[in-house]
Amino acid sequence: MTAVQDIVGAEHVLTDPDITQSFGTDWTRAWSAQPLAVVRPADTDQTAQVLMACKKFGVPVVPQGGNTGLVGGGIPHRDNEAIVLSMTRLQHLGTVDRATQTVDVGAGVSLARLQAHASAAGFAYAVDLAARDSATVGGMIATNAGGLRVVGLGDTRQQVMGIEAVLVDGSILRRLEPLAKDNGGYNLSQLMTGSEGTLGVITAARLRLVRAPGTQYVTFIGLADVESAVSLVADARARGDLTAAELIRSEGMKVVRQVCGLAQPLKAEHRVYLLLETAELPELPDDVDAVVDPRMWEYRDRQAEAVATLGIPFKLDVCLPINSIAAFLTELDTLPDTQGREVHVYAHLGDGNLHINLLDIDVEMADRLDEQVLTLVARYGGSIAAEHGVGVHKTKWLHLSRSSAEIATMQAIKDTLDPAGLLNPGVLLP
Ligand SMILES: Cc1cc2nc3c(=O)[nH]c(=O)nc-3n(C[C@H](O)[C@H](O)[C@H](O)COP(=O)(O)OP(=O)(O)OC[C@H]3O[C@@H](n4cnc5c(N)ncnc54)[C@H](O)[C@@H]3O)c2cc1C
Repeated sequence: MTAVQDIVGAEHVLTDPDITQSFGTDWTRAWSAQPLAVVRPADTDQTAQVLMACKKFGVPVVPQGGNTGLVGGGIPHRDNEAIVLSMTRLQHLGTVDRATQTVDVGAGVSLARLQAHASAAGFAYAVDLAARDSATVGGMIATNAGGLRVVGLGDTRQQVMGIEAVLVDGSILRRLEPLAKDNGGYNLSQLMTGSEGTLGVITAARLRLVRAPGTQYVTFIGLADVESAVSLVADARARGDLTAAELIRSEGMKVVRQVCGLAQPLKAEHRVYLLLETAELPELPDDVDAVVDPRMWEYRDRQAEAVATLGIPFKLDVCLPINSIAAFLTELDTLPDTQGREVHVYAHLGDGNLHINLLDIDVEMADRLDEQVLTLVARYGGSIAAEHGVGVHKTKWLHLSRSSAEIATMQAIKDTLDPAGLLNPGVLLP
């Protein structure tokens, strides 16, 4: 540890287990291991030096941002085996470049801080998600975070113009110029995007901004079935002003109201609830039970938090062709290990992205549920990892979404950039 203390300063190498434990436990509390130490570099050069020291001594490194990931990707997996490289001190926020509508940002900046910075300059950052106060730019790029406005404004990948990242040997890839066109070879920034800390450590990024939104209508609608919700999403999409389309099932509505003390927002209870965010008021049938109110976001934003207060949730984040979602959900509710249980599903419906949550699931049942649900997803032509990543949770099931040629190519890239397998071992690849 002396080598890294000399690089970042002794006060930025944390070894007291009472302090480091939280860095070794993920947001859901489903995964936990004691880090060897938590190392907090101040900048890119210190990050490079720490990586060189870890390579020299053969110490595995787990990059970490806000630790809000939900697939066990940002924490070590065996006690006292790896250091956590916490990137939260990289807090640089550049001046917004109005001509190119971009900004350069340090990896440790939280989403909320980036959003406020963009807003102060009259712009907006397109990606938004409920963990905005803690999730960092580095973590969001590493997971290619999606969130609430993908249907209108795209995912993180679409906002990344370039990144700065450090490889395990300490070399620095830097592409932070605001160039609209740049076809000189492979796009390494996009290779790092979604690589879950397995190829390099992201230290900064050049991100696109969008025009600040004008008036947005948030319409919360109670419906009898998912088919009706999908049909309303298709209508809103056709009008071209849809920025969010979120779904909550009755179980989730019940829990969020109970745990967060929220009032019944509609005249009656329904089987599904759809939240639409649009620039114009959506056209709805006359007899529909709906309310237009921006505060309805709270019912959706607090779903993950509400279910996590009831216990350690078993979570799956999957993507399906949107027209198959109703049929998929019918089958989901009748799988051998879901039957008779409350299956909490909330969704970025516009993207076909479902978050499936169950409670009181032991290790064996979790494995069976992974197999049953993810095989079903594959049968419907979906993806087993929509926006949270593969992490450690789904490495075993990657073959359901990716061909053996694709997995072999990913492994070859990993072996080239990180031959000793020191960066985030056990994550993403089987
Ligand atoms: C309440 C709640 C709501 C959420 N909603 C959404 C949602 O709507 N959409 C969505 O996509 N996600 C969502 N998430 C998941 C999570 O917020 C995202 O995955 C986010 O991108 C993680 O950012 P982080 O900084 O917390 O990363 P961490 O959790 O710290 O790390 C996540 C992964 O990125 C790697 N990593 C972190 N920083 C770096 C870096 N600088 N360089 C290289 N690798 C790095 C880690 O090793 C790990 O593999 C939600 C989480 C919570 C708790």
